[in-house]
Amino acid sequence: MSGAPSSAVALALLLLTGSPSFAEWASVTWHPAKPRHGDVAWVHVKNVSESATVEGSVDGRPLTFFPYGGGHAALFGIDIDAKPGSYAWRVGVVEKEREPQTAYGTLKIQRREFSVERLTLPKGLVDLDPEAERRANDESKLLATVYRTITPERLWRGKFTKPVGAAGEGTGFGARRVINGQPRSPHGGADYSAPTGTPVVAVNGGRVALVGDFFFPGRLVVLDHGLGLYTLYFHLDTIAVAEAQRVERGQPVGTVGATGRATGPHLHFGALMRSARVDPATLLGLAFLD
Ligand SMILES: [Zn+2]
Repeated sequence: MSGAPSSAVALALLLLTGSPSFAEWASVTWHPAKPRHGDVAWVHVKNVSESATVEGSVDGRPLTFFPYGGGHAALFGIDIDAKPGSYAWRVGVVEKEREPQTAYGTLKIQRREFSVERLTLPKGLVDLDPEAERRANDESKLLATVYRTITPERLWRGKFTKPVGAAGEGTGFGARRVINGQPRSPHGGADYSAPTGTPVVAVNGGRVALVGDFFFPGRLVVLDHGLGLYTLYFHLDTIAVAEAQRVERGQPVGTVGATGRATGPHLHFGALMRSARVDPATLLGLAFLD
């Protein structure tokens, strides 16, 4: 319920026998109905019991459902570099005393334009010496491994809160970066400008998956919210949590700083859903009730 329109798709039921009464028909609704690449969308399967087994996929990528709102829901992250177009989805429902149901449909991913950002940084932070390059590669591999780990329970509830209370909106998600004249990968998070020492809080419940001091991200905290959802807090001055610790929404995880590759004090806040880099603003805009 991100405010955008949604469409209810009646299940195209593949029933082995018989025909169901209307009340038995599950429904599948996407929020928003037409997401853009870089969005985190979600799907609501209604008219199924909480004890039902619901599974499915979009574009061949699995959805992980959890009981929600009189049915089941799943988040779907559309990577910043995903191709716009029609993505085929499938949802299967297995429930006691009902025939298994399978629904199929298409999710239209809209194109989104991102800005181009030109930065000038000290040569030493851009043209890495072999040792720094090896370190940065190892660190990004470690991060990718963390993001691939799917904790099988949902650790978040309800709405997501801003990671920095006083700051304005995060900026720069998806910006195509040109650093010292060389095109780089797009900016995978939102930057919040705030003075050094400003508290940074967990945007929702989770577990601390990683704490570190890395070459590009500087001092960092990675939170695992379960079912493949991670949030990232980079360039911290101080860190207030330890690995494996459970955190609540709004709990301080550290303070704003300028560690790693940062031109000044700010929080780089990122969100990943099953390794898809998504706009944190769309995560903060989700309006789950519990
Ligand atoms: Zn950033």
